[in-house]
Amino acid sequence: MAGATKKAKGHHNRSSMATRAVHAGEPRKKYADSLTTPIVQTSTFTFKNSKAIEDYTQKGKEHYEYGRYGNPTAKIAEQRLADLEGAEDCVVFSSGMSAITTTILSLVHSGDHIVVTDDSYKKTLEFCRSYLKQFAIDCTIVPFGDYNVIDRAIRKNTRFIFSESPTNPYLNIFDLVKIRKIADKHKILTLIDSTFATPYNQRPIEFGMDLVLQSCTKYLSGHNDILAGAVLGREELVEKIRDLHKSMGGTIDPHCCYLLLRGLKTFPLRVRQQNESALRIAEWLGAHPAIRRVYYPFLPSHRHYEVAIEQMEGGGGVVSFDIKGSLADAKRLLDRLKLIHIGPSFGGVESLITHPALVSYYDHTRKDRYALGITDTLFRLAVGIEDTDDLIADLNLALKH
Ligand SMILES: *Cc1c(COP(=O)(O)O)cnc(C)c1O
Repeated sequence: MAGATKKAKGHHNRSSMATRAVHAGEPRKKYADSLTTPIVQTSTFTFKNSKAIEDYTQKGKEHYEYGRYGNPTAKIAEQRLADLEGAEDCVVFSSGMSAITTTILSLVHSGDHIVVTDDSYKKTLEFCRSYLKQFAIDCTIVPFGDYNVIDRAIRKNTRFIFSESPTNPYLNIFDLVKIRKIADKHKILTLIDSTFATPYNQRPIEFGMDLVLQSCTKYLSGHNDILAGAVLGREELVEKIRDLHKSMGGTIDPHCCYLLLRGLKTFPLRVRQQNESALRIAEWLGAHPAIRRVYYPFLPSHRHYEVAIEQMEGGGGVVSFDIKGSLADAKRLLDRLKLIHIGPSFGGVESLITHPALVSYYDHTRKDRYALGITDTLFRLAVGIEDTDDLIADLNLALKH
């Protein structure tokens, strides 16, 4: 817990990340001299004889038993992710939400209290606010960025603070140094959903965060073709989560693990390109007469620019912007795009645009949406790896009157 972070194995910086993304977590010699990771597509594992069973059950000799308890392909994904994040240990899940809910449930008992920041992922908030209540776990939702309110929200029975950085859709940046101080003072755990940042742009464990959550569905796998999640941190904490995972059963399929491992090989290249491209697009949008406002953490106009450049390597691949005009103008922009696809999610090679008011907040009244800052003219652009000039040309045509 507080402050006592043991140094993780491996390297904890970005140096040689490109090499580690390709090779980490894998034995050099593999089954049948395969170069790439074998997909151990099995639901169960066999024992050679009764002695092998006893060696496993009584002497603790390493052996795989049943698919929900572990799989060699998944193990390699866990070791690679842990290496990249600078964490001691990792568990992979069938989705980011499976990682988040299993992690939370492994840490709380009825009568406990947790603190969650208000612009966390919608389903995380829903889980904390509604479902945890059924087990008498109290949750205080605090406004993002108000560190005094966070400090005051912590009680004797508070187990942890859960936050995210950057957040959706305004890409707010959580000050990890400030939160570590508050957590140390109260001796509580810190959990951070670092999906928007990835270990290329931010490694929260270096800032003393206890657990890092990742939706590997996004940049880490990077091809908009799988769902996967992970939790990373100290062995002693992660082991408890792994235990519950075996009962909750959000197990990732071995073939899916292979796709995650394949995606991870190019992840530093992709994110570097997406950082560069998104910054250029953010600057271009900022200078465009049809744009009201651009939100990108590495633009000096962003409210958390100072913290962002302090704790992050790059601003990431997501740019949010508000156009001048009305909902009709917003719809026209969507309908005119030819290269950028309309759709939720981010972090893949294909650029995607979403209109939060029409998609994620369709069930809110306009008044409620505006109270949350979700205007009729707000867009979230997830920059892929296409040529930046082509993306700008597509936006430019769509923005023309
Ligand atoms: C997508 C996402 C999740 C959920 O991950 P899934 O893989 O879709 O279950 C959680 N947090 C953040 C920040 C996300 O973007």
